[in-house]
Amino acid sequence: MHLILLGAPGAGKGTQGSTLAENLGIPKIATGDILRNAVRDGTDLGRKAKEFMDAGELVPDELILGLVREALAQPSAGAGAIFDGFPRNVAQATSLAGILEEQGRTLDGIVLLDVPDDVIVERMSGRRTDPETGEVYHVRHNPPPAEVAERVVQRPDDREETVRNRLRVYAAQTAPLIEHYQSEGVPVHRIDGTGSITAIQEAISLRLGL
Ligand code: AMP
Repeated sequence: MHLILLGAPGAGKGTQGSTLAENLGIPKIATGDILRNAVRDGTDLGRKAKEFMDAGELVPDELILGLVREALAQPSAGAGAIFDGFPRNVAQATSLAGILEEQGRTLDGIVLLDVPDDVIVERMSGRRTDPETGEVYHVRHNPPPAEVAERVVQRPDDREETVRNRLRVYAAQTAPLIEHYQSEGVPVHRIDGTGSITAIQEAISLRLGL
């Protein structure tokens, strides 16, 4: 099974993607997580990606495609993957279609998490990450356990100005993927992403027939 999670930054792709990947027994390929790890480790990729990420801009496509190929080549991805944060524009979608075809894989569908901008801004301002595990929390909706609470940090690109730019980039470059996939006949499952984490999980499972 190959699914793409689509939605604005902060729509819940990471959280829902992890559950979905676990339920399906396939990995989640989250390009944002891979890039953040590269920045943290100070790799060549991280150094190239950092300035784009800090500004809320997209990292150049040629840096992203190699990561996706590498992730799909892992034995754990033999039966499929959940793509989170990729593709981010039509050019990446076209490249992904080529990679999948080359490898005899098919795209089963898109899960589109629909969340209004004002809810996104509220969510992202409260979002915190555990630097040790990468686990994501929210100060109100999903607070970290006491032993983790002291070390959680805010992602630099979750600051308000950067969030606004990321929303602009989403609207201009990523949202057109909805029509792109609809016109290609790929099922687009639009899910209301404003409820509780478990309600959204259930809505996704129901829609996918899991
Ligand atoms: P995310 O965690 O998916 O919100 O990604 C955080 C940041 O990483 C984005 O704002 C981009 O700068 C970069 N990024 C993640 N995935 C991609 C992608 N597929 N293409 C380009 N840039 C990306």
